[in-house]
Amino acid sequence: MKTAFITHAECDGHVTPSGHPEQVARLEIIRDVLAGYDLHAEDAPLGRMEDILRCHPQHYIDRIERAVPESGWNTLDGDTHMAPGSHQAALRGVGGVTRAVDMVLNGEAGNAFVASRPPGHHAETETAMGFCLFGNAAIAAKYALDHHGLNKVAVLDFDVHHGNGTQDLLWNEPRAIFVSSHQMPLYPGSGGRNERGAHGQMLNIPLESGTGSVEMRAAWAHRVMPMLEREAPELIIISAGFDAHERDPLAGLNWQTEDFAWITREICQVAQKVCAGRVVSTLEGGYDLKALGEACAAHVQELMEHAT
Ligand SMILES: [Zn+2]
Repeated sequence: MKTAFITHAECDGHVTPSGHPEQVARLEIIRDVLAGYDLHAEDAPLGRMEDILRCHPQHYIDRIERAVPESGWNTLDGDTHMAPGSHQAALRGVGGVTRAVDMVLNGEAGNAFVASRPPGHHAETETAMGFCLFGNAAIAAKYALDHHGLNKVAVLDFDVHHGNGTQDLLWNEPRAIFVSSHQMPLYPGSGGRNERGAHGQMLNIPLESGTGSVEMRAAWAHRVMPMLEREAPELIIISAGFDAHERDPLAGLNWQTEDFAWITREICQVAQKVCAGRVVSTLEGGYDLKALGEACAAHVQELMEHAT
């Protein structure tokens, strides 16, 4: 089977102010680098209300919809803006991840990569922040559990920033393992080792500024992979941020492009052992366009290599 590639042109309607790092060009470069790949490409459908409601209350969803400006921007927090097309773009992100879960669990694709904007992992239950509106990765996890009836899923977040939103949305969910490695201290400030989830189902791995390949590989190889083998989730969801790359302007880790291939390979190999290779990856950060293109290409190549 192939790797599914799910995106939508309406994600480009999430236009951010000039100079904002989370920009339309990010998806353009990803589409460019993946253009020649043998992927099972699909347009992301619109997300369904019932799927968002598993993570966000109705009044928050209504607030986001009401915040759509007729022109220009509406600013939700210091760095999270909504343009006229942002709500529709966010709905494509939700629809993208739920469609990806369907494809992987129904056997239509071996694994899947969802390229959407805005990203999701900072969006908390009732708070848009850090460029994010809806918690796509957590929504995907809840969808796999509640709609598809899985008993255990894992969300693995290697974005350089802590996935505080995913952590918040899944804090009380005993069926969802959450792992995040991230630079600390750094925005959003959470993600200490003592944050373990209501059921001890979470693992936060703070990394010091400057952490490179050796330390990051050791952390994932020695702490995360054995835990995944032991816990045996039935689906692995990746919050794929590429801003731990050494060239990223927003952070100070020193991951190389090859590290994104390595971590994807490791995750896919564990997935093959415990859940027939079922992996759904969704784009989070990554703000140096060249590094984003290279690291994302390396990530998707490994997904393709392991799509069985
Ligand atoms: Zn990030």
